[in-house]
Amino acid sequence: MILVLNSGSSSVKYQLIDPGDAEGPARAEAVKIENIGEPGSDVRDHEAALSRVARDGAVESAGLTAIGHRVVHGGPRLRAPALITDEVVEQIAAAVPLAPLHNPANLAGIEWARRWWPDVPQVAVFDTAFHSTIPPAARAYAIDREIAERHDVRRYGFHGTSTAYVSRVAAGLVGQPDTANVIVLHLGNGASASAVSAGRCVDTSMGMTPLEGLVMGTRSGDMDPAAIFMLIRAGMSPDEVESMLFRRSGLLGLCGDNDMRAVIARVEAGDQDAALAYNVYCHRLRKYIGAYCAVLGRVDVIAFTGGVGENSSLVRSSVLAGLQSLGIRVDPLRNVTATGTRVISTDDSAVTVAVVPTDEELEIARETFAIVARTKPQ
Ligand code: ADP
Repeated sequence: MILVLNSGSSSVKYQLIDPGDAEGPARAEAVKIENIGEPGSDVRDHEAALSRVARDGAVESAGLTAIGHRVVHGGPRLRAPALITDEVVEQIAAAVPLAPLHNPANLAGIEWARRWWPDVPQVAVFDTAFHSTIPPAARAYAIDREIAERHDVRRYGFHGTSTAYVSRVAAGLVGQPDTANVIVLHLGNGASASAVSAGRCVDTSMGMTPLEGLVMGTRSGDMDPAAIFMLIRAGMSPDEVESMLFRRSGLLGLCGDNDMRAVIARVEAGDQDAALAYNVYCHRLRKYIGAYCAVLGRVDVIAFTGGVGENSSLVRSSVLAGLQSLGIRVDPLRNVTATGTRVISTDDSAVTVAVVPTDEELEIARETFAIVARTKPQ
């Protein structure tokens, strides 16, 4: 049994999964410990949250073969899931400046689990890893090359674990598991678009950090970096601008709500601010779909995932409306009715449009299983 551990900035999620079961993966319910360190919370810190994981009876009696840790940023050197060693821990720590909210919490989980289960192999699965195949033309920013290299300023991409899983399911859905060209739209609180060709990622919208690209719940996505310097010269500190772009922008910045359900309810009630936020969100997405059609040349599947992508038929239809010239036709009835993994395009649509619920935990369990099986002494 594999314990999948996601030690995040304000929550710890965990799940027991046996990915090797011939009948399909066996798994226990996922558990989420929230509000770590927040006022009034009974979970003081990560240490307290993690000791709850270890005291969970199901975990105690599971007979753990390995632990798979979700890690957001692998930095420039960790380009694939890795068996955790002291050196790997150092590399994850070195990537903290690139993911200051996430990597420290991920590290806390790793260090704690290594102390608690010193004899159980542990694997780090990076959100950046699936994007390590992105070619230089899509990876490099067009800035002074020497400075970029010295500071590792380049596109890394995130949501890789989800994108790997969803693109594989989507390729299988059209009967082309090894050859399909897929656009994955992961739309949750964070949001990203990725172009995947024959199982390899060739471009993605998030960049050096998860700030670039699509409009998100609280993050701006793409904007002119010169605006940042203008705001700093106008008296804001770099920390204030950073916090504004990560935490008070996106849907929240435009209309005061970051939950897409609330935004849509306000749009339907005629609220103009919410309508602008919704339209900016959908416009940006449509722009990226067009861009990735050009990057891929031929698109076989567009796959929606994440809380918004899986649940909002309105967002899906708004984003894809008017794209018949790209061979994209959504079936209005299929779009609103079905659940689970399903096709929502018409039978004559040149591009298959699908909804694929993501399963990052299963993907982490599979990667962990594969690494441990490969590194087992013969
Ligand atoms: P995370 O990125 O934190 O994993 P999720 O992928 O669960 O989050 O996505 C959360 C978002 O999904 C919420 O902000 C919410 O707006 C959106 N969402 C969930 N259900 C719906 C729905 N029925 N319609 C529109 N948006 C939804």
